[in-house]
Amino acid sequence: MTMQENVPLAPLTTLQVGGAARYFVELKREDEAREAAQFAKNRDLPLFMLGGGSNLVIADSGWPGLVLKIAIGGITTPNTTEATGNAVLFSVGAGVNWDDFVAQAVVQNCAGVECLSGIPGSVGGTPVQNVGAYGQEVADTIESVRAFDLKEDRIVVLPKPACGFRYRSSIFNTTERGRYIILRVSYRLKRGGTPSLKYADLQKHFAEGPAGGKTPPSLAETREAVRNIRRSKGMLIVPGDEDCRSAGSFFKNPVLSEEQFKDLAARAAAKTLEIPSYPALDAQHKVSAAWLVEHSGFSKGYAAGAAGISHKHALALINRGNAKAKDIVALKDEIQNGVQEAWAILLEPEPVFVGF
Ligand SMILES: Cc1cc2nc3c(=O)[nH]c(=O)nc-3n(C[C@H](O)[C@H](O)[C@H](O)COP(=O)(O)OP(=O)(O)OC[C@H]3O[C@@H](n4cnc5c(N)ncnc54)[C@H](O)[C@@H]3O)c2cc1C
Repeated sequence: MTMQENVPLAPLTTLQVGGAARYFVELKREDEAREAAQFAKNRDLPLFMLGGGSNLVIADSGWPGLVLKIAIGGITTPNTTEATGNAVLFSVGAGVNWDDFVAQAVVQNCAGVECLSGIPGSVGGTPVQNVGAYGQEVADTIESVRAFDLKEDRIVVLPKPACGFRYRSSIFNTTERGRYIILRVSYRLKRGGTPSLKYADLQKHFAEGPAGGKTPPSLAETREAVRNIRRSKGMLIVPGDEDCRSAGSFFKNPVLSEEQFKDLAARAAAKTLEIPSYPALDAQHKVSAAWLVEHSGFSKGYAAGAAGISHKHALALINRGNAKAKDIVALKDEIQNGVQEAWAILLEPEPVFVGF
């Protein structure tokens, strides 16, 4: 392990804001986890686990402790003779790029993660907020998470039920935040399975295609479609495109109680507006955060100095060039206040704030 000092963190994140890490080390092997943890403990330094940096806002003052960049690689090629039926277990190193793993699963004709194509970040980052998109989430396929438990100073394997997965949440970003260094994740996929086409955008894409929705698309076609839809929304990292210098969706879709929903509907009616209905959201009493933002005076392309809103997606706050973390936070506050005033709903940010 090579310990580095004062390493700038902004280039290691998709939003590209924030200061440096006091100490920084790359973890390439599982057995280095204990050594790194010990280094931090001996010096009483706070520890931060960095994956692909795609869900982070790093403070301008940086991180005063040790940043552990998880770089454990390896995708175990499934052995069909070990598989039960057509279920195939992939064990993937936490440092593997998530989309590289999805690509490999699709090439091997294994279903279960195709709708999660194009999501940036690492495999180790996916259980943390139970990554999801287009009708799939990793909780659907995760079998177990292998991690170094900083509390018990040993490697543990957490079966899926122990991970407490919910919408954009797990024990890793709630009750046990900061306790585990995720080393590997096992996903149970289905060889020869059909793609999941629950989402309206995807159904529409294939209904309008040459097959007119008559022949089910392959996993590869589904992956391609998801990546194209994401590209059109600035949700695929395209180098040089300012609209993807973001941390993805900056706000979660709020989950409302019956009473809150009635209040929202009444406010909308008073403005002669109708709250859009999406089956995927309605089922969970969620409303579209993007709609709330756009109907509170913040349109796509809104600029606030060096920070702004993507031209392609109302929920993506972007770094328009040389933004500081404080510019992003000021815009976040402005949007939260605007939505609160117009709709009496406090939007909850999705990214992780580091060093604030
Ligand atoms: C353009 C864009 C589109 C996006 N689209 C989506 C989307 O559709 N759906 C979605 O759910 N998310 C989306 N995101 C958010 C982000 O890509 C995911 O949350 C991703 O899983 C974060 O992984 P990461 O490796 O980049 O984690 P990081 O951003 O590095 O870290 C995020 C959190 O996970 C923790 N963490 C990361 N790795 C480990 C590890 N090995 N052990 C312990 N803790 C760890 C960190 O400490 C931190 O708390 C998008 C982001 C961008 C920029």
